[in-house]
Amino acid sequence: SAMISVRNLSKLYKDFIALDRISFDVQRGEKIVVLGPSGSGKSTLIRCFNRIEPHDSGILSIDGQIINAQTDLTQLRATVGLVFQNYNLFPHLSVLDNCTLAPRLVKKTPRASAEEMAMRFLKQVNIAEQANKYPIQLSGGQQQRVAIARALCMQPEVMLFDEPTAALDPEAISGVVAIMNDLAQQGITTLCVTHEMGFARHIADRIIFMDKGRILEITPPAEFFTNP
Ligand code: ADP
Ligand code: ADP
Repeated sequence: SAMISVRNLSKLYKDFIALDRISFDVQRGEKIVVLGPSGSGKSTLIRCFNRIEPHDSGILSIDGQIINAQTDLTQLRATVGLVFQNYNLFPHLSVLDNCTLAPRLVKKTPRASAEEMAMRFLKQVNIAEQANKYPIQLSGGQQQRVAIARALCMQPEVMLFDEPTAALDPEAISGVVAIMNDLAQQGITTLCVTHEMGFARHIADRIIFMDKGRILEITPPAEFFTNP
């Protein structure tokens, strides 16, 4: 069965319809890229998946669990990781402590094993040498990689990325592509909002194209990029 199932999902901000009866499924390990003009509802859509934005109607289920007002948010956000475009690192914590905080608090992982796991993911995103630095001492691209490592430390089933390449140079972007391919190999499902067409073409199994709160098209990149 589908990892993510979305049926007639709608979201309003006051009387503005941000999501208008959206439906689609995502299979386990799939990499979905969400494209569309600014304001089309891309961020809102992925934010509904970890309930940072609660939807107003329709049915959303992840790994067979229906997401609604009764959902345990701590549990949900351990399953569904989100990497924001503005990183949201804790400024008063070192890189390592940023990564170990949630596993220690939420999963009660002992400090030593949380740190061991954090170092493994920091190495994977090539930022382990900065483990004892504070976010302000890092470049935007480095902070972005820390944010990815921090999300991975919760060992989520689903990873959501909102403009993950916005602050990155081409080399760092290919690093993110490699990470997403790795996640897919491990069966982790990823959804990624981006404006980078080249990135989308490289990474996506399927592209969702949104406009005005609706899905206009869901198609593999080869078809998407050859359509007139
Ligand atoms: P995208 O990610 O495609 O740029 P968003 O999901 O951020 O689109 O926003 C979709 C629409 O909803 C935009 O018109 C935006 O201004 C509006 N919107 C987003 N968040 C809020 C909010 N918290 N309150 C009111 N309107 C919002
Ligand atoms: P994005 O396109 O990635 O959502 P934005 O700059 O549009 O980034 O939005 C940044 C924040 O402002 C988000 O938390 C969003 O919910 C909120 N926001 C966006 N549009 C509006 C709006 N029209 N009214 C209130 N909040 C908004």
